[in-house]
Amino acid sequence: MSEKDKAVQAEPGAEPSGIPVKWVLGAFLAVAALWTAIAGGIVHRIVEQRVAAYLAHERTAIEQRLAAVSEQFGLALNRLRGVPAVIAAGRDVISVLTEFGPDAGRGVQPLDMRRKNWTERSDLQALSRQFSLTATELEVDVVWAMNASGDCVAASNANTQMSFVGVNYSDRRYFTAPRAGERGYQYAMGRVTSVPGLYFSSPVTSTKGFIGVVTIKIDLPRLAPWVKGSDEFVTDENSVVILAGNSSRTMRVLDAAVVEHLSTAQRDARYKVLEFKALGIEALAEPGGRGGMVRVAGSDVPHFFRSSGKTPEGLKFHILKPAHDLASIRRDGLPMFALLAFAGWAVAALVTGAFVYMMRVRQHRESLQTTNEALNRLNQDLERLSRTDALTGCANRRYFRERMESELERARRYHRSCCVLMLDIDWFKNINDQHGHAAGDEALQHIVRVIDRTVRNQDAVGRLGGEEFAVLMPETSLDNAAALAERLRLAVAAAPAQFGDISIPMTVSLGVAHMATDGVDENTDDFLRRADNALYAAKAAGRNCVRRGAPAQA
Ligand code: GH3
Ligand code: MG
Ligand code: MG
Repeated sequence: MSEKDKAVQAEPGAEPSGIPVKWVLGAFLAVAALWTAIAGGIVHRIVEQRVAAYLAHERTAIEQRLAAVSEQFGLALNRLRGVPAVIAAGRDVISVLTEFGPDAGRGVQPLDMRRKNWTERSDLQALSRQFSLTATELEVDVVWAMNASGDCVAASNANTQMSFVGVNYSDRRYFTAPRAGERGYQYAMGRVTSVPGLYFSSPVTSTKGFIGVVTIKIDLPRLAPWVKGSDEFVTDENSVVILAGNSSRTMRVLDAAVVEHLSTAQRDARYKVLEFKALGIEALAEPGGRGGMVRVAGSDVPHFFRSSGKTPEGLKFHILKPAHDLASIRRDGLPMFALLAFAGWAVAALVTGAFVYMMRVRQHRESLQTTNEALNRLNQDLERLSRTDALTGCANRRYFRERMESELERARRYHRSCCVLMLDIDWFKNINDQHGHAAGDEALQHIVRVIDRTVRNQDAVGRLGGEEFAVLMPETSLDNAAALAERLRLAVAAAPAQFGDISIPMTVSLGVAHMATDGVDENTDDFLRRADNALYAAKAAGRNCVRRGAPAQA
């Protein structure tokens, strides 16, 4: 099989010349993996940014709410703080307490008796009525006055079941503090009412010195509207929650250590609670990078926690708000990631698919082109083979006659001269007989080489059969053709063929004919026959010679 044949057969089934599909798939997987990592990074960043924005927004909102509420709270406390001093400066209060005097002893009668006596005493009754009006006016729950021993002598609730009159309060801080010259404030459970409340008090003094205390109480339920949100609460100076939007937080402690120093009696007196449960707030490590977040016992959700500064009474306002959206923001990252990753894979798959498709189309086109080229070459080869003599490579009889037809046509049209010669190897049979058929073949190829190098380029050489050849000579007169034939005869005779070691001397006989012109319409076969006749004449004349053919017959 020749190289060309191999090429024609091999190409359609061969490995495509482009990038192998395996590599493209590998590249796709690599891009998909890379994109997955990038998508993860992008989503992580987006989620973190959203978390940071959410935290910042919530923190600002909480700070603002805390500031507003604690300011309002502070203003209200301010007002309450001033009230007892104003009442204590009242003339009636001073005159009543002056009567008890700075050395008033604690009442010795039973409580009921004492209460009855004092409630019915006209000056004390008048003072109690005055207190009652003041309480209503100032929106506080109780206003009362104690003498220097701590016995309540007049109270705004004197005519109620809960009357304070006759009760001794000398152990309460709102009494002891003013007696010692300090600000009188206390959070406590009401001794009579059992209603928790804030107490503010002021000493009452006369020229003789300390003669008693005026106290106002505001019940905690009255303060409840201050704590609007379920996430808001207020602690007292012992960090006990005294007011909370979420009532389950009430009486819990923020910092268990602070209440530990209170004795059981103190706890009972103040809070009517012996064991305090903690709120369970623990600082959380940096969920948003800025701190201020806490974990609350019994909740999985992190909480924002902000506290106001202490009021002079030690009260603090707090906001403890669950960061519910934190988890959902993080949860939203997953579908976002899935969507982003999937979109990337889809695009990569699409691009890869398009690439593979285009590669395939290109390969297909290339292979078609290669096949076409190979087929063209094959056709050309076949055509050349159909025109040439396989042994010697010169034109075969059919093609030589075709060339003669067209050349004669041309010569006739333009009135040009044209000759043909016929050549036959002398005694060729003997060469075959003596040296074998292969030597004869070599001799034939040798003759063609000699002819080729002797004739001109435009002359056409053909093998008409066996050991008989012809040369067509355009633009050549009979004399010149005969001269060429003679040169050819001499060249053959001078150069024996070589077959291995064997030298094969040869001679040729030649017949030359000139194309008929001037009114003679001779066809190709007739023209060739005149040359053949001349060749026959040369043979007859003893071979190894040239004979001219007769002119064409009109
Ligand atoms: P003459 O001088 O009269 O031409 O004698 P000749 O022997 O040359 O003529 P003849 O026609 O008797 O013999 C021609 C021989 O050429 C016969 C044939 O075997 C031989 N021949 C024809 N074609 C080939 C070929 O392709 N190769 C070989 N080796 N021999 C061939
Ligand atoms: Mg012969
Ligand atoms: Mg012959």
